[in-house]
Parts: sequence; structure tokens; C-alpha cells
Amino acid sequence: MFAQQRKKAHVDVGPLRDLLNKKTKRFIPRRQEDAHEFLRALLEQIQTECRSTSLEKTTPDPVSATFRWEAEIAFTCKECGQETKVPEILMDISLAVDAGNTIKSLLDHYFKEELVDRKCGKCAAEQSTCRRTIKKLPDLLVIQLQRFRVMAGETSVRKRMDAVQLQSSVKLGPFLGKNDLQEDIENREEKEKDGRGVEGMYKIRSIVSHFGDQLSAGHYVCDVYDRAKPEKHRWITFDDDRVIERENYPERSRSCYLIMYERV
Ligand SMILES: [Zn+2]
Repeated sequence: MFAQQRKKAHVDVGPLRDLLNKKTKRFIPRRQEDAHEFLRALLEQIQTECRSTSLEKTTPDPVSATFRWEAEIAFTCKECGQETKVPEILMDISLAVDAGNTIKSLLDHYFKEELVDRKCGKCAAEQSTCRRTIKKLPDLLVIQLQRFRVMAGETSVRKRMDAVQLQSSVKLGPFLGKNDLQEDIENREEKEKDGRGVEGMYKIRSIVSHFGDQLSAGHYVCDVYDRAKPEKHRWITFDDDRVIERENYPERSRSCYLIMYERV
């Protein structure tokens, strides 16, 4: 495996941060911030600006077109079977790192049916099952790993270093509702006659990793798949001003924090 360092190839995100700071009064230079909060604030700002133009009246903004999910949570009463459905709009998902040790197992846990305390509107029973299904898949899937925990007897929150194995591809098709899967397949087949992507297949495209054992401080490193030259299957690591080319993404199981997958 080769790893080659390139000089002066880094991207200075300072001007972007300053622009966002000007608009939102957040992300002040030299203060430590959370990468997920930065991403959310940046995307929200892009949406706000798109909505203030006449373009938005006719087309969805690029952030919604790329990141937006539609899901549905179905609550079923344990006693009488009364079902209540609640729509849900998501731009990313947060997965608990203690629910498994691979991205796939964390996703399985996220979509698993579970028992919850919820009073039935019909028979007043106290418990329901709860299951989330996807109605519409995003083009880009953003996963945030919840790397924090409140220790017993403490008020402070600590960072979790649990190992989560990254997978080069994940499938979201199994979590689509039955009718939604059919509709998704038909839409995809219309777009792509070769039938690619019919099962909601996603490929890993970037990883933001947080190094250090504290939540309030540390160091971020970003690994990005080089989409410009897909034939090379190359990854690039951005670590401050160090830019390293690689054949694949490096081992990040204990530090990975934000992972982006692209639908293929
Ligand atoms: Zn009931």
C-alpha cells in the first residue's frame, strides 16, 4: 500500500468559516468546535440563502435534494393493535456506538422494532411497539456516531472510544417500506436502465475522525475518496496542512465520527 504526501495541497477552510461566522455568529477562529455542528450550520445556511431566492419556488434547494430522507415511525399498541404513523424528515442520522461494532450492526439496531412507553389513544394501554421505515432514500447518507456518555454518578459527559468497523458499502434497501421499495425501484429503473442501485446500495466516500480522549478538545482529520479519478480508487487524507494520498481509507475504527456514504 502506498501513502504519498503532497506539499501545499491542503484546502484553507478559514474563509468559509469566517463567512459562516459572519452569518451565524458561531465558529469563531481558534475556538474548538464540533464538526457535526459545523456541517449542520453550513447546510442550514445554504438552505436559508437558497430559499431567499426565487429559484427555490420551483426547485428543491440543493441541500434537500442531496441529504434529505423521508421516514415513517409506526407505533402499534401492544393490547389492541391500534396503529399510529408519524412522518419524519431527516438530513442525517445519529447512531449510538454501543449498539454494535460495525456500521451495518448500528444501522440494524436503528431500524429494529422496539418496545416503547406510549399511551394508546384507543384503549389507553401504556406500551406500543415502534418501528421506523424509510419512505425516500437520500443521495448522500450522513452518519454521526454518538461518541459521548454520561458516567454514573457524574454530571460531565465523556468521550466514547468504542471501535466501530467501517464498511466500504452499506445497503438501506431492507429498511424501505414494501410499497416504497417498489416505487424506489421503478424510479431508479427509469433513471438507470441497467438497474444499478435498486437495493439502496451506498459506497463510503468520506470519514471525519476525531482524535483525543476529550469531547471539548482534540484534532480532526478528514479522509476523502477521490471522485475526480474513480479509475484510480484513491483516497486523500487531509490532516491540517498535510495531504496524503492513499490506496484506501486508513483504519479509523476508534476515531471515526462523521461518515458519508453516496448512493450508487
Ligand atoms: Zn390500544
